[in-house]
Amino acid sequence: MTDNTVTKRPLTLLGLGDMGTALARTWLAAGHPLTVWNRTAAKAEALAAEGAAIAASPAEAVAANGLVVLCLLDDASVGSVLDGIDLTGKDLVDLTTGTPAEGRKRAAWAEARGARFVDGGIMGTPVMIGAPASGAYVFYSGSRALFDTHRAALEVPAGARFVGEDPGHAALHDVALLSGMYGLFAGISHAFALIEGEDIAPKDLAPLLSEWLGAMGFFVAAAADRLTSGDFTTGVVSNLAMQVAASGTLLRTAEEQGVSAELIGPYLELMRRRLAEDPAAHAGEDTAGAITLLKR
Ligand code: NDP
Repeated sequence: MTDNTVTKRPLTLLGLGDMGTALARTWLAAGHPLTVWNRTAAKAEALAAEGAAIAASPAEAVAANGLVVLCLLDDASVGSVLDGIDLTGKDLVDLTTGTPAEGRKRAAWAEARGARFVDGGIMGTPVMIGAPASGAYVFYSGSRALFDTHRAALEVPAGARFVGEDPGHAALHDVALLSGMYGLFAGISHAFALIEGEDIAPKDLAPLLSEWLGAMGFFVAAAADRLTSGDFTTGVVSNLAMQVAASGTLLRTAEEQGVSAELIGPYLELMRRRLAEDPAAHAGEDTAGAITLLKR
């Protein structure tokens, strides 16, 4: 493929919110002929000046190209926008955030209508789109053939990571990473609340906290190894019995500082529950053993 814009694969994008607009701009800048549709027409019109073709309806937008990308608010909006439209022979790439079950259901729905389907989970914010140094990427899963066909176009806005043919796995990877992130945010929030009102500036705690969290990042790979081997005790240097005892200090400190333990309390309780389940067996574990209690 050359840089000649005529050779760039044309595509359609449905949904021009903050994320959709960022995606659209990268395809236009890279020379991909782009047809857009948005429920609020003004957002589409803004892109006409940048070279986008504006479709008057979702049906017209879908009819324009074989590759159709969706970036709408949620799966319900995808269902309502595509309702009744002929999808025969289309390649649908759904970048709308959803659950794994929604991804699988939407894939079956699309395939029943004669389309190939790939679900996507965007790991980045609109400002990170089209900026390779930002590290933004998209998890994709579903039809490998669709992904391989359109990989070059899909890699224009952000990196692309295909995580399997199960159409639910893009959403599952996306949500797993976001869930880890919110757990981290919870700990950070609690740490800052502890020093509030003290003669410690948040900006002085920040580099210390950042450095500590970086050092504790080893736990990700260590937990994966332990979950894989089923061995939660070999080589443990911070055993569960000690950590449960120390958790009392964390809770009393929160109490002394007048800070709610609502964010860290549940994790400390999980460690306590793992120990209480079988103290003799679990005292020497690290905290990864507690993960096994979470699955219902
Ligand atoms: P916005 O709220 O900015 O835009 C939502 C889009 O969905 C708009 O185009 C809106 O149309 C459209 N929409 C909502 N409901 C309907 C409906 N019932 N029928 C037709 N169109 C509808 O959200 P973003 O663009 O930020 O997000 C889009 C997707 O990208 C979401 O699934 C989000 O989770 C995901 N995402 C967003 C990130 C972000 O940081 N922004 C990061 C990663 C993923 P209208 O303009 O008419 O309101």
